[in-house]
Amino acid sequence: MMILPILAALPIPVVLVGPNERIEAVNVAAQRLLATDGTGRHYITGLRQPAILDAVEQVLRDGETRQCRYLAAADARDSTWRVSIVAVGLPQGRGALLSFEDISAVEEAGQMRRDFVANVSHELRTPLTALLGFVETLKGAARDDPVARGRFLDIMDREAGRMARLVADLLSLSRVEAEERRRPVEQVDLVALIRAVAATLEPVAAQSDISLDLHLPAGSAIVPGDLGQLRQVLTNLIENAIKYGGTAKPVTVTLTQVTADPALRADVARISVTDQGEGIASHHLPRLTERFYRIDAHRSREIGGTGLGLAIVKHIINRHRGRLRIESVLGQGSTFTVILPVE
Ligand code: ADP
Repeated sequence: MMILPILAALPIPVVLVGPNERIEAVNVAAQRLLATDGTGRHYITGLRQPAILDAVEQVLRDGETRQCRYLAAADARDSTWRVSIVAVGLPQGRGALLSFEDISAVEEAGQMRRDFVANVSHELRTPLTALLGFVETLKGAARDDPVARGRFLDIMDREAGRMARLVADLLSLSRVEAEERRRPVEQVDLVALIRAVAATLEPVAAQSDISLDLHLPAGSAIVPGDLGQLRQVLTNLIENAIKYGGTAKPVTVTLTQVTADPALRADVARISVTDQGEGIASHHLPRLTERFYRIDAHRSREIGGTGLGLAIVKHIINRHRGRLRIESVLGQGSTFTVILPVE
C-alpha cells in the first residue's frame, strides 16, 4: 500500500487503524511514543488511553474528525500530545489515521504563567493582610494609645515598603523580558560601573560592618551593554552578598579580562562577587534564578528580599549573551560570576 512508506517517512508519530479495528501501521516516531509496535493487533491494546479509544471508535463509525489529548511518560519526562484522528478511505473500507503533536512546551508555559500569578498574589497578599489588620487596630483598640500607634505605624511602613519593592522588581522583570531579544548597544566601562555601584552600597555594607574589596584592572574595561541593566546586575549581586554574607565578613568584587574564554569562545570580561557567608547547598544552585525561589523564604522576607533579584540578573545576562556561574561551599561562602562577551 502506497500510504505506508509515506507514514514511515513522517517525523511526527502517526498510527493507522484499519476498518477491522486492527493497527495497520505505526511509524518509528509512534513506536517510540507508545513504546510498542502493535502492528496487526487490536487498537485497544496499542493505544490504551480511554480518551483516544473513544475517539477512534467514533471516527471509525461516523467518519467525523476528532481531537483528544494523550499523556505520555517516556524518557523520564511527562509529555502532553494533541492527537488528531481523521477518517481515511482505505481499499478495504474506512480507517482512522492518528497523528500526534507534542504540546508539552505550550502546556508548560501555561503552567508557569499560572504558578507565577499565584506566587505574585501570595507575595502581595501577606503584607496587604498585615496592613489592613493594623489599619483596623489603629481605628479601634489602639486609637488612643500613642506607643502602640508608633509601633504599628513602623510595621505598616515596613510592609508597605515590601509591597513597593515587589512591584518595582516585577516591573523591572517584565521590562527586561520585553527587551531580551534586543541587543544592547551602549559601550559600558565595567571598571567605572563597579566603582560606582560599590560606592552606592558602601553605607549599606558598613551597617553590617562589611567591607567591599574591589580588585579591578588599571584603566577601563569596555563591553557592549545596557548601562542601567548592568548596574542592576551588580547591585543585586553585591546586595545579596551583603545580605547573605554575614556580619563583618568582607565581600570581594573581582574583574578580570580573559581572551578566548572556553565557554563563550570569545574574549570576555568576568566579574566575580564573593562572600564568606554560610554558602548554598548544591541542590539549590540550579534553581536559584527561578522567580520566587528562595532557600529560606521567611529569612529572605525578613531582610527585605523579593525572590526576584537573581531572576532579573539571569534575564539581563541572557540579553547580553553572557553567562552566570554560581559556585558555593557550605560554611565557606559563595561566588557569583558574570561572564560578558567583549565583542
Ligand atoms: P531574594 O530577594 O530572596 O534575595 P534573590 O533572587 O536575589 O532573592 O535570591 C534568591 C535566593 O538565593 C535568596 O533567597 C537566597 O536564599 C539565595 N542567595 C542569593 N544570593 C546568595 C548569597 N550570596 N549567599 C547565600 N544565598 C544566596
